[in-house]
Amino acid sequence: MRAPTTQPRPHADSLWRAMAARVPTMDAPVSSGAPLARDLDVEVAIVGAGYSGLTAAYALQKRGVECALLDANPVGWGASGRNGGVVSSKFRLSFPSIANSHGVDTAIRMHRLAHDGVRAVESLIDEFKLTRAQFEHTGSLRCAHTERALASIRAEADWVRATLKDTSMTFQSRAEIEHETGSKGFVGGVLSADAGTILPLEYVRGLAAGLTARGVPIYESTPVIGMSRAEDGRVVLKAPGGTVRAKRVIVATNAYSNLTDATAPYHRELVPFRSAMIATAKLLPELDAQLMVNRRSYTETRRMMKWFRKVDGRMLFGGRDAFGKEGEPTGFDALQRAMVALFPQLKDTPVEYRWSGYVGMTFNALPHVGKSDDATVFCLGYNGAGVAMASLIGQHAAALALGESPELAMLAQDGLRPVPFHALRAPGVRLVAAWYQFLDAVGA
Ligand SMILES: Cc1cc2nc3c(=O)[nH]c(=O)nc-3n(C[C@H](O)[C@H](O)[C@H](O)COP(=O)(O)OP(=O)(O)OC[C@H]3O[C@@H](n4cnc5c(N)ncnc54)[C@H](O)[C@@H]3O)c2cc1C
Repeated sequence: MRAPTTQPRPHADSLWRAMAARVPTMDAPVSSGAPLARDLDVEVAIVGAGYSGLTAAYALQKRGVECALLDANPVGWGASGRNGGVVSSKFRLSFPSIANSHGVDTAIRMHRLAHDGVRAVESLIDEFKLTRAQFEHTGSLRCAHTERALASIRAEADWVRATLKDTSMTFQSRAEIEHETGSKGFVGGVLSADAGTILPLEYVRGLAAGLTARGVPIYESTPVIGMSRAEDGRVVLKAPGGTVRAKRVIVATNAYSNLTDATAPYHRELVPFRSAMIATAKLLPELDAQLMVNRRSYTETRRMMKWFRKVDGRMLFGGRDAFGKEGEPTGFDALQRAMVALFPQLKDTPVEYRWSGYVGMTFNALPHVGKSDDATVFCLGYNGAGVAMASLIGQHAAALALGESPELAMLAQDGLRPVPFHALRAPGVRLVAAWYQFLDAVGA
């Protein structure tokens, strides 16, 4: 199902939008918001103005390379304006499993990349003075739902400490987890100190505003509806209001690549998964004092993982929702039931915000960065952990477009490799999700 190509699409009705609207517009970050209305010639054109595209543009601007961004929607419409704001230093694949399959040296390089992602966010916050994004280096707590899951994440933390000499992951007992989260639903956990939280929409809008201030044009409501090569080798991007000719293109459209036919081939690299979130009403003072006292981000070990944090005095609770369709209440109701199962204290607390977005999953559970031809770079597939990683990988994609060789370790991919049986991926995702839910339910 593909949305009409040139119609403006509504923003997700998220807590982030409500919070942003509360701040006086005088100091609200702005980009021009204007669509492309003329023809352009640039060194590098970037399609997609989420974290990937904006940070790619920043890397180019710092090197003095002329570039322009085109997005089908207003900045922050995609995953970068809807996500949970968890800034994490991990991949979906664990470091011990990377070492098993690719050796310890590769695990060391991947570990460095993961932590570089958090450093990238920190630097961008400083350089763009993004105080409104409220980045906090809080750490992230992974809470185990069974003894078996606890043994597994504990073994992983021990391995990371012993082999990678990283002491930032520490074991937490059942009592510590219960005190910290306010939930009796966990048997223990692992704290990753190098992680944090952010207001995602403020972050993406702040990056856009900073780039605009540095003279980088961002054309919003500008879908790229055609991508071809001219005789001189330049890439020609067609949009409703004009044509852009560029020496290089960076495609940073991720899980929304199917908005137009021009970028749809990049969508075929992915298995898109809907991720849903709810935010409660402001917590009563006694609940506020009981729940998530250290205000970190929290994830759990179920296959159909749920995660939560406290923001704006509310519980924010998210999870993968393979069943519901966009805008349907079923997934949100299931999420609320899961929240109350973990936090029975919240059974009478109403939910005030519900929204969702698409996460780009990949078959190897890792992001993919590479060239789809000699002039086109792509970066996508952050597997639900893209706040930090896209902030870093966008910059590496820019380096790749300039002919440099950034460190990509296992993320490097030579050419597009569409997911096999791509047309069957939606029913496939539902089948896998149903199986995972069953395994979670029986505690396997
Ligand atoms: C509900 C949800 C919760 C999440 N929670 C977290 C979290 O807590 N922590 C975390 O690390 N990650 C999280 N993620 C993942 C994270 O948000 C993404 O990995 C990250 O935002 C990807 O950024 P991006 O710039 O690559 O893509 P996006 O932000 O999705 O940007 C892609 C842009 O491309 C544009 N586009 C697409 N096609 C075209 C076209 N043809 N022409 C022009 N423009 C086009 C779209 O309009 C969009 O703006 C979550 C994702 C979702 C959906």
